Amino acid sequence: MLVDIAVIGNGPTARLAAFALLGCGSNVLMIGPEADRAGDPRTTALMPSSVDSLDQLGIDVREKATPLLDLRIETTGPFGIVSEVFTATDAGEDFLAQNLFIRDLMAVMPEIQMHKATVTRIRPAEDHVSIETDDGRTIRARLVVAADGLHSLAREAAGIRMRKKPLGRSALCVPVRLEQPHGRLCIERYDDTGTLTLIPVGDHDASLITIAAPDEIAALAAHPDEIIERKLTRRQDGFGHIAFAGEKAVFPLSLGFTPQPARNRVVVIGESAHIAPPIAAQGWNMSVRDIMTLKALLTAAAANGEDIGSQQVLGAYAPRRQPDVAGRLSAIGALAGVATRPAAPQRLIRQAGLAAIGRFKGVKRSLMRAGLR
Ligand SMILES: Cc1cc2nc3c(=O)[nH]c(=O)nc-3n(C[C@H](O)[C@H](O)[C@H](O)COP(=O)(O)OP(=O)(O)OC[C@H]3O[C@@H](n4cnc5c(N)ncnc54)[C@H](O)[C@@H]3O)c2cc1C
Repeated sequence: MLVDIAVIGNGPTARLAAFALLGCGSNVLMIGPEADRAGDPRTTALMPSSVDSLDQLGIDVREKATPLLDLRIETTGPFGIVSEVFTATDAGEDFLAQNLFIRDLMAVMPEIQMHKATVTRIRPAEDHVSIETDDGRTIRARLVVAADGLHSLAREAAGIRMRKKPLGRSALCVPVRLEQPHGRLCIERYDDTGTLTLIPVGDHDASLITIAAPDEIAALAAHPDEIIERKLTRRQDGFGHIAFAGEKAVFPLSLGFTPQPARNRVVVIGESAHIAPPIAAQGWNMSVRDIMTLKALLTAAAANGEDIGSQQVLGAYAPRRQPDVAGRLSAIGALAGVATRPAAPQRLIRQAGLAAIGRFKGVKRSLMRAGLR
């Protein structure tokens, strides 16, 4: 079988890319195993810019998402607790983010043509890429869009290098039920252990993420659930008792960047292309930008009758996309260094920084708009 575009993967990035790129080739095929996201404890907080992009594509996430209206950042340290509230109004937006479980995000995306199999081998050639799957099929594509995640086979096969730096931090993530309604307020606390964030979903529910040193997270996760709930409530009781509402999962955290994300008729997007810790909720928002950039590039190339997999076309992707990715990853990396470490200098820096942001409204607004747009 020969297709114009093969999208490899079955996560939210692959699903959105396969749909968004439909008009860029005469046939677009997504290749990935059946995805069961029912147990995935993660939510994704979509920034206003991503919601706009999804609207442009005719995908309305609002029916499944919870709008976040306010964010309270609290830091403990030498000055006691310093906190600052960031509101959607401060940023000139209707909401800070629309938050929804990844399974719900997948559910609002339209069904697309899919070959349900795992890719076992990828061989780029002069005018196509040959893709072998575990059901014994071989598919040829003029362009491969690799959305096969952290350990991307397509990235390796195309010789695309990822620079990856472990952060020496892990995240424990779990859906929770709150004793009191959250009122669409997200609370992010930086304390003596690390970070603890409650990101609202529904009226009484939230996605909880706590980031700390890997041994601290492993020790926490080893306790029975009731003990973990008590420990987490002691660290953050802003909404009363925290009770688990689903399975917990632990993620080791790293930063990753592909300076040249397109090579040999393969372009990497989503977590195949960049890895960010769940700080400042940028992760999947960067995937949306990857897809919209690629869509614009391929639409123009297809309209001009160009070969959409050629280096001439794909060569334009990195200059358009990577400055934004690099800027966001640097900011997240710097924030991770200050936010997730409980040592005295970091505590002092974040308390002083937060107090300063609170005092200068212009700085606060610019920082918020840079994160949200
Ligand atoms: C704790 C945590 C919290 C997060 N919170 C947020 C947030 O609030 N906001 C945000 O924007 N982002 C957040 N993120 C990041 C976000 O979850 C990821 O960016 C997103 O899930 C990446 O989606 P993806 O489709 O690129 O990759 P994945 O979800 O990893 O999907 C890749 C898929 O490819 C498939 N695959 C792998 N190999 C093959 C193969 N050989 N053949 C076919 N298929 C293959 C795999 O089965 C996998 O399902 C968070 C991440 C973590 C760890």
